[in-house]
Amino acid sequence: MNDIKKKSEFKRKPDWIRVKAPVSKGYNETRNLMRGLKLTTVCEEAACPNIGECWTKKHTTVMILGDTCTRACRFCNIKTGKGNPVDPDEPANVAEMVLVTDMKHIVITSVDRDDLPDGGASQFVKVIAAVRRASPDTTIEILTPDFRNKPGALETVIAAKPDVFNHNLETVPRLYSFIRPGARYFHSLNLLSKVKAIDPEIFTKSGIMVGLGETEVEVLQVMDDMRSADIDFMTIGQYLQPTKKHVEVEEFIKPDQFVKFKKRALSKGFLHVSSSPLTRSSHHASEDFEVLKTARLEQLKKSEAKIQQDAPIDIEEMKKHNANYEA
Ligand code: SF4
Repeated sequence: MNDIKKKSEFKRKPDWIRVKAPVSKGYNETRNLMRGLKLTTVCEEAACPNIGECWTKKHTTVMILGDTCTRACRFCNIKTGKGNPVDPDEPANVAEMVLVTDMKHIVITSVDRDDLPDGGASQFVKVIAAVRRASPDTTIEILTPDFRNKPGALETVIAAKPDVFNHNLETVPRLYSFIRPGARYFHSLNLLSKVKAIDPEIFTKSGIMVGLGETEVEVLQVMDDMRSADIDFMTIGQYLQPTKKHVEVEEFIKPDQFVKFKKRALSKGFLHVSSSPLTRSSHHASEDFEVLKTARLEQLKKSEAKIQQDAPIDIEEMKKHNANYEA
């Protein structure tokens, strides 16, 4: 890792990072819809490079609890300050957006709300409930803050049974104090571990950005940590500096290194891994959810076959045994 830099400059993006400007009809329709429903998206607030592609397909990641975050991470473009008043119409507006766009899989995230007693957990629950009422077949993925020092908040959100629970580790533990000063690596890891322990049916997901000065060994260690927390799905994407005020990109990681990361992560037992320069937590979330479901079924089939192989069950013997009981 290089020394922390005081001055920040933009590094020229390599060819594999360039994306097209968002100009499509679908993009404009999505933007108008979000404005009309007074919904904020992380797509715009975080200046996501995939916005042209996603919004053309009407895939957005809605950001609840306002557009102002009570933390100040050095990589994040979302404005920081005192949190906005919680909008009571937000759950209904999110549900309407799902209906209008016929969304099959929604990703809901939020700013950090350290100012609220429950960190915003109850608003997550209300939004999930409103979406379920409006569109019971829509699957729900949440990308939450860490609910640090908010007792009971995590459990409240888990009880709402989202299909996917995502919380990003963002970077390697060594860089936390500089990149993510308000958070704690092991708290975040533990949060994901708890989700799985409380409700194993919920898929868990987490991601990191690379190019912040982490080493390959550190990334591999994060993979191991995630597996020890039983995380199902890992995402790895290139960090991009949103403005000159944000931490500078240390390195543009080459596409073949992302492929290497993906292979290593899959070999460690994740159900699914998305690793590419433009991977973001919610990029292709709907397609990834299908991959997750299929991978879990495959895994179950394999473990059943293994049990049968290790200790074959004699079906005829079992029937006789049951008949004795019934008699
Ligand atoms: S990748 Fe996620 S945050 Fe980026 S535009 Fe797509 S939905 Fe929005």
